[in-house]
Amino acid sequence: MGNLQRSVVRRAMTPNNAGTPLVAPLASSVLYHYENASQLEAVHNGEIEGFDYARDGDPNAVSLADKLSWMEGAKAGIMTSSGMSAISAVFLAVLEKGDCIAAASQLYGRSLLMTKNDLPRMGFETHRFDASDPSTFTEAIKPGTRVVLAEIISNPMLRVTHFTELAEAAKKAGALLLVDNTFTTPSNFNPLAHGADLVMHSVTKILSGHSDLNLGYLGGNDPAVIERVLEVTKTMGLNSSPYNCWMAERGLNTFDLRLDRAQQNAKKLAQLLETHPMVTKVHYPGLESHPDHDLAKSMLAGFGTIVSFVLKGARPQADAFLKAAENIPYGPTLGDVATIVIMPAAASHRKVPPNERRALGIEDNLIRVSLGIEDFNIIETDFKAALEAAALH
Ligand code: PLP
Repeated sequence: MGNLQRSVVRRAMTPNNAGTPLVAPLASSVLYHYENASQLEAVHNGEIEGFDYARDGDPNAVSLADKLSWMEGAKAGIMTSSGMSAISAVFLAVLEKGDCIAAASQLYGRSLLMTKNDLPRMGFETHRFDASDPSTFTEAIKPGTRVVLAEIISNPMLRVTHFTELAEAAKKAGALLLVDNTFTTPSNFNPLAHGADLVMHSVTKILSGHSDLNLGYLGGNDPAVIERVLEVTKTMGLNSSPYNCWMAERGLNTFDLRLDRAQQNAKKLAQLLETHPMVTKVHYPGLESHPDHDLAKSMLAGFGTIVSFVLKGARPQADAFLKAAENIPYGPTLGDVATIVIMPAAASHRKVPPNERRALGIEDNLIRVSLGIEDFNIIETDFKAALEAAALH
């Protein structure tokens, strides 16, 4: 038993290997041990590079964050356990007593809840603005506003943010502009290059692309701010898992190809829906009928992979559509290799009171589609059949 403990519990080091692995190894170790106390001290003092304890950082997180920072043109970046923890970490790191927040009225459901309930509960007042209407910016973003939170393409109505004006308003107020770039992707828009201070992603979505992990990224051009947020992720335990980063790095290899195909599918589906008698409205910035089409064309390299549409009728027609669309997974995520549908009023925005939801345009018969990479013929067949089924109700 004693010998077993010596050789098994006290593990041997990895075998010597003169070769360099092509794929970054999965670094699952919680502990990195050192020859002596001075060596670890030197790591802590920044004199030599190294990791010591997994909550404080690991090679897979650093390697993935570096790639995403390169894609976003960020000088520094970190990984967090999820998209929501990346947003939480910013607020936890920078807000001081008495600070206010300005947040867009259309945001991912949990971001709306955080800025509506949780941050005000802690004493941080939230002021709302309509990101597609610059006349609302100065009222909401003023001295005392510490963070401005916005998305570029809003969820689920796909309105486009007037970014130049928003960045100007944030700068004038001395606030940090934090952009959730999840829907847009780094290929279609780089917020930091256009005046944002911080950019975040739910890497859970199209960047990793296979719905098999939760992960967040935060990047910025002021390394001191990112370092401050990193400290908070260590203290508050918002760190990413090495396995998730390792998996996401593999998914990232095909991101460009998946984005291209899903974006083509989104455009084709938007065009199909626009001419279908069971559809009363299609929201897709790539359509000329979209209210922000010209702005989207001037700002974005691509129109994204999400299409929302309103079915003729009400909830029963939407239910009939979803029942008939049994081959298309239903659920609260996006950016998967497969096309996924959701009814935002009953999912991501279910906790937003119905009157507020409707004011945002989120009716019960609004369906959001996240396009996957399937051959479009498959998508077309499934949608046409489900729309016909809805018409029978
Ligand atoms: N931001 C957007 C636009 C999202 O769609 C989501 C999740 O759906 C999030 C943030 C939250 O990301 P996560 O689920 O990784 O916490």
